[in-house]
Amino acid sequence: MLKKNNKSNSKVFEIIEKEKKRQDSFIELIASENFVSDDVLEAIGSCLTNKYSEGYPANHKSGNRNRYYGGCQYIDELEEYCCDKWKEVFNTNYHVNVQPHSGSSANFAAYMSVLQPNDTILAMSLSNGGHLTHGSPVNFSGKIFNIVSYGTNPSGFIDYVEIYDKILKYKPKLILAGASAYSRIIDFKRIKRSIDKAVEIIRLNGNNDYSPYFMVDMAHIAGLVATGLHPTPFGYADIITTTTHKTLRGARGGLIFCKPELAKKVDSAVFPCCQGGALQNIVAGKAVTAEECCTQEYKDYIEQVVDNSKAMCNEFIQLGYDIVTGGTDNHLFLIDLSRTHPNLTGKMVQDELDKYGITLNKNCVPNEKRSPMQTSGIRIGTPAMTTKGYKEKDFIAVARTIDDIIRNMEQKIEYGQE
Ligand SMILES: *Cc1c(COP(=O)(O)O)cnc(C)c1O
Repeated sequence: MLKKNNKSNSKVFEIIEKEKKRQDSFIELIASENFVSDDVLEAIGSCLTNKYSEGYPANHKSGNRNRYYGGCQYIDELEEYCCDKWKEVFNTNYHVNVQPHSGSSANFAAYMSVLQPNDTILAMSLSNGGHLTHGSPVNFSGKIFNIVSYGTNPSGFIDYVEIYDKILKYKPKLILAGASAYSRIIDFKRIKRSIDKAVEIIRLNGNNDYSPYFMVDMAHIAGLVATGLHPTPFGYADIITTTTHKTLRGARGGLIFCKPELAKKVDSAVFPCCQGGALQNIVAGKAVTAEECCTQEYKDYIEQVVDNSKAMCNEFIQLGYDIVTGGTDNHLFLIDLSRTHPNLTGKMVQDELDKYGITLNKNCVPNEKRSPMQTSGIRIGTPAMTTKGYKEKDFIAVARTIDDIIRNMEQKIEYGQE
């Protein structure tokens, strides 16, 4: 037996203890964060981290059978169970790969499964809510692929007509829907219809084998999709990626779902193209997450997340703030400070709130005039504090506190200028 380290001698556990205290005491409003259950923690901290398991379970549906190393009998059982459980969560017969190490790795593998370098991707622009992996020039997506983006109209809603027009104009190989900072329903059905219509026209014009893929990155809203509080992309998208640690409230990682005919392509894009050995302790954590997502308790939780988001958002409206799109349908909303607080940047507000133990992040707003490092807005999400038991009244109280802090900031600036 290996001897257990004496925790009191380890600098690491000292730091973990400090971080734990921070997590216990801060008001966490970062829309992409959450707190996992003790069961999830136990699974990801388990001995499964010791096991190499390159490859896939022996009777994996995709045909990419077999592991590279022996001793995988229990790991195989785990990974298959994990796959089955996630299909149950989303009530789907799509194929699923549970090995991606993160949402970004999932997107990387999803692109590599159906695209060649320099192929064109049409995705939501980063300044309008898209994710880094949707084509940022500093990210692999922007370095490897040719990115064309669509955005939102001046009031902050997705411009569906622009999507249609840009498919006709650029004939992308892949159309991507999904965002990190968008507070409204994304109409996957409508996007799919636009794609089908555009494809028809492009083919009529002589481009007979034009056949793009429709991919949805539901990293933020997956918990709402799982519980029916957001329309599902299943049935419309060819490939669907997600993280498991945001609204799904689970082990940090990624998943890729795809139509069964793409299973082999997706599996070989994850391994051996983009990754080596899977993290089976994380796969176990994802399996526990999926079990939790199937419960009534989880459904009630997500309903509360959305109720809380709407209540807090309405309070900010009452307090005179501009909300991008004027409200929210999901677990987050964006405050646009540019008209009401022209002297304040998102960064300034983020830093000031940090001093009061309130964590959130700066965010671009439609027609952003400032750099992404400054911004004119902030993003607020309710998943984490809802896990901590916050209800509508608690979020309303936090909104008032944030308003007080922002008022003080304005006053300080005024006095400073005298
Ligand atoms: C968070 C997020 C990701 C990336 O997830 P990581 O696990 O941080 O790599 C991808 N896409 C969207 C839309 C996200 O919001």
